[in-house]
Amino acid sequence: MLLIKNAAVYAPDPLGVKDVFLAGGRVCAIRDSIEPGPDLPVEVIDGTGKLLLPGFIDSHVHILGGGGEGGYRSRTPELKLSDLVRAGTTTVVGCLGTDGVTRRMENLIAKAKQLKDEGVSCYIYTGSYDVPVRTFLADIRSDLLFIDEVIGVGEIAIADHRSSQPTFEEFVRIVADVRVGGMLSGKGGVVNIHMGDDGQMLEYLERVKVETPLPACHMLPTHMNRNPLLFERGITYAKGGGYVDFTTSSYASFQEEGELKSSDALKKMLDAGVPIEHITFSSDGQGSLPVFNREGENIDVQVARVDTLYQEVRDAVRQENIPLETALRVITSNVADHLRLTRKGRVREGNDADLVLTDPDTLELQTVIARGQVMLRDGKLLVKGSFE
Ligand code: ZN
Repeated sequence: MLLIKNAAVYAPDPLGVKDVFLAGGRVCAIRDSIEPGPDLPVEVIDGTGKLLLPGFIDSHVHILGGGGEGGYRSRTPELKLSDLVRAGTTTVVGCLGTDGVTRRMENLIAKAKQLKDEGVSCYIYTGSYDVPVRTFLADIRSDLLFIDEVIGVGEIAIADHRSSQPTFEEFVRIVADVRVGGMLSGKGGVVNIHMGDDGQMLEYLERVKVETPLPACHMLPTHMNRNPLLFERGITYAKGGGYVDFTTSSYASFQEEGELKSSDALKKMLDAGVPIEHITFSSDGQGSLPVFNREGENIDVQVARVDTLYQEVRDAVRQENIPLETALRVITSNVADHLRLTRKGRVREGNDADLVLTDPDTLELQTVIARGQVMLRDGKLLVKGSFE
């Protein structure tokens, strides 16, 4: 049992200064004042002068590692629990990417279960870049129905030289399967779509909206900030009812080539009239970031970081002057709503006790609580992964 006293709660909507009582991994009560009874072994955290936020949700992380496009030595390592905790991320969605051969669903499911055992919440997408989708069981619907962690399909690559170049009909079949599988399993169901730099861009997604009865909520195109043309097309797509996701891990050199920083992309989309409910951020953490010099030579491969997720939200508030309660939504309630994670993404009675305390001025992370367990306290890591 935990009692957080006198914290300014952003649920993400601002609720004012509250006491928040946690027990059994859930938020049990949010009140103006809660006093612990004399016989209850309640740990009290003083939240005076601090902000209490929902734990962050990162909907696209290569938890098993990714990369490999530069040969075996460019394979990136698995995600460590401590990296996630230090990022304030209490819920992560794992996926496979380009390499769906040496990285397989068996490993992905096991890694998800490991992260859950270690204290955070973890879901996965079935499949990888490849079409036909390499599922664990017979097909997409079976994976959604019978594997608790599976909440969708992904990351399916389109408009990219590394994709399987699926036909429109193959793409529609995946969206249709995820819709029905999502309905039958009560999970919602989303296709996480890797958008490449090819000129085809959002054509398939736009055609799904026009030519089929399938709703846009089952498709989440990610990397939508990777170039200005794709970004501009994304504005039209999102204003027409589509959903868009920006990738937060980036480099200054990528931005010189036209990639938009996620905080900047958020500001531009809001200014263009895109509803905030249709925008999310994800980190692409543990994916590979190939670094090129001015001559276009590959000089380095870095690993994408999960802590960029919240850094971009901080930048959206501090540099782009977007209100905290608005910016926060792209890594909390919007993600939870879109992925139908009903107990996630909000500080609300009955929800999972996934919480973050920050400094009100710098917005620096201080304390992270996942499913009721204090993982980081006043900047000090209390819980590490099994072999860290
Ligand atoms: Zn990708």
